[in-house]
Amino acid sequence: MRTQIAIIGSGPSGLLLGQLLTEAGIDNVILDRVGKDYILGRVRAGVLEEGTVGLLDEARSAFRLHAEGLPHDGFSLAFDGRDHRIDLYELTGGKRVTVYGQTEVTRDLMITREASGALTVYDAANATPHDFDSSSPYVTYEKDGVTHRIDCDFIAGCDGFHGASRKAVPEKVIRTFEKVYPFGWLGLLADVAPVNHELIYANHPRGFALCSMRSATRSRYYIQCSLDEKVEDWSDDRFWDELRRRLPTHHAQALKTAPSFEKSIAPLRSFVAEPMRFDRLFLVGDAAHIVPPTGAKGLNLAASDVHYLFEGLREFYDARSSAGIDAYSQKALARVWKAVRFSWWMTTMMHRFPDTGDFDQKIQEAELDYLTHSRAASTALAENYVGLPF
Ligand SMILES: Cc1cc2nc3c(=O)[nH]c(=O)nc-3n(C[C@H](O)[C@H](O)[C@H](O)COP(=O)(O)OP(=O)(O)OC[C@H]3O[C@@H](n4cnc5c(N)ncnc54)[C@H](O)[C@@H]3O)c2cc1C
Repeated sequence: MRTQIAIIGSGPSGLLLGQLLTEAGIDNVILDRVGKDYILGRVRAGVLEEGTVGLLDEARSAFRLHAEGLPHDGFSLAFDGRDHRIDLYELTGGKRVTVYGQTEVTRDLMITREASGALTVYDAANATPHDFDSSSPYVTYEKDGVTHRIDCDFIAGCDGFHGASRKAVPEKVIRTFEKVYPFGWLGLLADVAPVNHELIYANHPRGFALCSMRSATRSRYYIQCSLDEKVEDWSDDRFWDELRRRLPTHHAQALKTAPSFEKSIAPLRSFVAEPMRFDRLFLVGDAAHIVPPTGAKGLNLAASDVHYLFEGLREFYDARSSAGIDAYSQKALARVWKAVRFSWWMTTMMHRFPDTGDFDQKIQEAELDYLTHSRAASTALAENYVGLPF
């Protein structure tokens, strides 16, 4: 088989890139090691920047998002038993975020791709990029016991943190940066109305909590937990009790509960691989970087990578110029590092660390006080939260 772009990974970055390429008349094939239902069963991000929504529009895949997504003009920082609202809309001159689950983004992109007739191969085992340092790269994979080969012009490694693309790069040409945080997030999903119409990020002596949502009837809640916690030790009642303890009283009293239908623990990590291009192989999204979810940046960063790569590939085919793809890594990384910084900063400010001493605690309190009383500081937070420009 031959295509122009072989895409490894059918998460948000692979699907969005595939759809933009298809719209531009550039042939592409997507491979994923798992099946469609498995991908749609993964519960992950839920806060979309305007730039991400714009790209989904460009990919003609935002039809449901505009009907069902929830525009949010602000969020709440809760500490000292009180709410402190960050007015995103006012502080950024009219920008907002949209709450719409990653599962739904993925579903919409899959629907558009299927309608376009572009090929996705699910359950493709051992996908491996080859010869990407030559002018004839190709990808091999196994399906139903048979090895297949796709010859292509370029390979897009959209296969997430544990994927094969980054691992195929020789160690001597890649540099990685990593910070692992000493706690995780225990998350719960339930069909119940959210406690608040906007997100609440709570800093509490017992640990961080986040009240988020996927729709007006589906809530996503998280509490900071230690890394040795086991999800089976957390009954729904135990989770709801712990969440209530970490919220200001009026929210704790208003919290409605329902049986959970998903509960999981996610570790928190910051990770960046540099560069993001290796001749004819590009790393995109989580394959190249991971951020802790505190700043709601993971999915949005995947989208901005896709934007830079898509523009570069379009320029390559339309104008026979490699300027865009040559600049891909540098442009993407400049934005990635700013989001990595923001996510690290939000995480540091909102969580209790096991080694937090009295001094660190006082600094954290001073920072929250400054942040919520200085317009300049609140504006910097808002500007990063709604997303820096592409
Ligand atoms: C538990 C969890 C919770 C999260 N919560 C948030 C959040 O609240 N907010 C936020 O902004 N972000 C969150 N994120 C991050 C966000 O989900 C990711 O940034 C986003 O999914 C990145 O998209 P991607 O397409 O680059 O990678 P992925 O979504 O990881 O997709 C990669 C795809 O590649 C496939 N793949 C992997 N290996 C191979 C292989 N060898 N061959 C073929 N295919 C392969 C996988 O099956 C997958 O479909 C969360 C992530 C996790 C894991």
